[in-house]
Amino acid sequence: MNLSTDLLAAPAGLQTFIPPQRCLLGPGPSEIDPRVLTAAGRPTIGYLDPAFVTMMEELKSLLRYAFQTANPVTFAASGPGSVGMEMCFVNLVEPGDKVIVCRNGVFGGRMIENVTRAGGIAVVVEDQWGQPVSPEKLQAALAANPDAAVVAFVHAETSTGVASDAATLCALAAQAGCLSIVDCVTSLAGIPVAVDAWGADAVYSGSQKCLSCVPGLAPITFSARAIERVKARKLPVRSWFMDLNLILGYWGETTRTYHHTAPNNSLFALHESLRLLAEEGLAASWARHRRLHEMLAEGLAPLGIEFLVEPAYRLPQLNALKVPEGADEAAVRRRLLVDFSIEIGAGLGPLAGKIWRIGLMGYSAREESVRRVLAALRELLAR
Ligand SMILES: *Cc1c(COP(=O)(O)O)cnc(C)c1O
Repeated sequence: MNLSTDLLAAPAGLQTFIPPQRCLLGPGPSEIDPRVLTAAGRPTIGYLDPAFVTMMEELKSLLRYAFQTANPVTFAASGPGSVGMEMCFVNLVEPGDKVIVCRNGVFGGRMIENVTRAGGIAVVVEDQWGQPVSPEKLQAALAANPDAAVVAFVHAETSTGVASDAATLCALAAQAGCLSIVDCVTSLAGIPVAVDAWGADAVYSGSQKCLSCVPGLAPITFSARAIERVKARKLPVRSWFMDLNLILGYWGETTRTYHHTAPNNSLFALHESLRLLAEEGLAASWARHRRLHEMLAEGLAPLGIEFLVEPAYRLPQLNALKVPEGADEAAVRRRLLVDFSIEIGAGLGPLAGKIWRIGLMGYSAREESVRRVLAALRELLAR
């Protein structure tokens, strides 16, 4: 064949893609501090370069601080929060294992799917969307299923804006001899996450929520008990890419051998966003999210916009708001984006069309953003 004549024509006339400047107040991604974007733009180096290895070690200690854990196996998995979720299930669930999954929103539903695909048997503890996971129901499910191997739940349900009591749920799991898998994608850095104090066994997060980093990384940590379970598996992990035994050859304590090409520049960015978190301090970060949530709530009350969730369980970083009578849910969201360049989130599943979700995550949790979305909503609802 004649290569030059058989070539497809290259698309012509395209400009450099320059994204519009948005105020990101949805369920993630959040806005990114310029320091983090600058870090991502630094020159790429090899993933076995001694300078890179030094950076990885710092990254692991920064992640241990964010998760409040001494777990040696704490690193950033290559992939979004969903990879963090799947990595926990494919490693800890063997075919035939019984897993109790607490579902009170979209992400608990995904956990069930993960159990089934890993060959496990899911026992589902259901709670209403907008309610936290019930410790009483989990206790009953553990009593009814003494052969259960794992308990899984979502700490901060982004689909509904609800926080569950992770300390109590992890303690119940441990008392019953089960490992716990906890989704902290939206909670990490926004509300207290205390992996060691909870006694949690496998905990994952995402880079683009309250850490305000570029999307595509999943901070993750495993307890010694979890690692023992993985090493004692009867069958190999079904996923090659997510098999911890292989990944630890690269991220582990002693060896640095090639597994897959690390997303170098994204890891530079995560290192810088965790440095920002360490500079501010975890407690100060939690307090800032709380303070801006209160400022938002005060501004919403006179507009007649109510919260879906009781104050005791509300996530400050994800505000689920009932669409007021007479307002067009999708039209308001569209006008916010088009006229004000503000992104907020829609409701999912049974809450579609019924709620808006205003995220105040990480670098997006600033007073100016709250003022901006309140002013825009005031104007749109008056129209
Ligand atoms: C966003 C989110 C995920 C998934 O993260 P991705 O980065 O989109 O894959 C999982 N769990 C919760 C609670 C989330 O909010």
